[in-house]
Amino acid sequence: MKDRVAILVPGYINPRVIARLSDSFDIVAVPHGATLDISDEEAALVRGIAVSGALPASWIARLPNLEIISNFGVGYDGVDVGAAVARGIMVTNSPDVLNDEVADTTVALLINTVRQLPQAEAWLRQGRWTSEGHFPLTPLSLKGRHVGLQGLGRIGIEIARRLEPFKVKISYHTRRPRADVSYGYHASLLSLAEEVDTLISIVPKTPETTGSINAEVLKALGPRGVLINVGRGTTVDEAALVSALKDGTIAAAGLDVFANEPQVPQELLGLPNVSLLPHVASASIPTRDAMADLVVDNLISWFSTGKVLTPVSEMLQESA
Ligand code: NDP
Repeated sequence: MKDRVAILVPGYINPRVIARLSDSFDIVAVPHGATLDISDEEAALVRGIAVSGALPASWIARLPNLEIISNFGVGYDGVDVGAAVARGIMVTNSPDVLNDEVADTTVALLINTVRQLPQAEAWLRQGRWTSEGHFPLTPLSLKGRHVGLQGLGRIGIEIARRLEPFKVKISYHTRRPRADVSYGYHASLLSLAEEVDTLISIVPKTPETTGSINAEVLKALGPRGVLINVGRGTTVDEAALVSALKDGTIAAAGLDVFANEPQVPQELLGLPNVSLLPHVASASIPTRDAMADLVVDNLISWFSTGKVLTPVSEMLQESA
């Protein structure tokens, strides 16, 4: 047991990660919200981290023999990759295995938003169908919409493919156009928002994307406009969104992610024209199990072969 590699696990992580890690590694678990209070000797034993969420740069600095950070989730904005790169530490994430789940949830959220299906179900459950009659007709419909995707990567392309049978028109904005699709490309988000009436955001949290869906973009989306965000909450200027939803600048929004989770702006909770989910796009047991397996398999692969299965893009740039 003594010569087993020690893996640090800060805060909460999917229990399957812990269960599988225990087979091959020693685990140094730090409770959620606690500081990294370990001896120099213990710190020196830690060669890997399995993390779901935030990993402070100071923790990376505290571990002199750290070789790899295995991130649970495709988005790894909680990890200071710059600090890892500077130390030659490998960083991995868990892409692809969640594409279908996230894309399915996105389509469901879009339909829930335009057809107000959660509100209609609440109407039935509250007995209002019998006491008040039919649920009011929804002002919006998916039919005839022009959907613009901000982001057409692994998940974005799955969303686009799912939307094709709904007979909506599809366009997109990314920094570089894809050669393998015929959807209309826009070099700027504003130009995309001007052309479409439905904007789906599925981009990572980066300095460039932060606040990119702002008052100007929402105005361009227009009074029939629908915003769906399944990427990161920070992409949207939430204050501008609340104003746009209140004054009819756009018609409705469906959000799975928020800037300061789990806090959701109080004003959003009170609005009738929003559909809100608590960051559940990938949250089924089968999909989270597959993500957990990838977190563990990256660590096993690294410590047995020196290679990983799914390095983050910055690692590929490093070795290019
Ligand atoms: P990919 O890296 O495969 O795709 C990212 C896409 O975003 C690419 O099309 C990329 O194109 C585009 N992009 C990146 N930066 C910009 C920018 N500044 N402006 C416009 N487009 C940009 O990632 P995934 O599809 O696998 O995941 C996307 C994100 O979704 C994750 O990073 C994560 O944050 C979020 N996510 C949320 C989930 C949830 O539970 N709600 C679940 C899973 C993921 P290009 O490089 O050409 O610009």
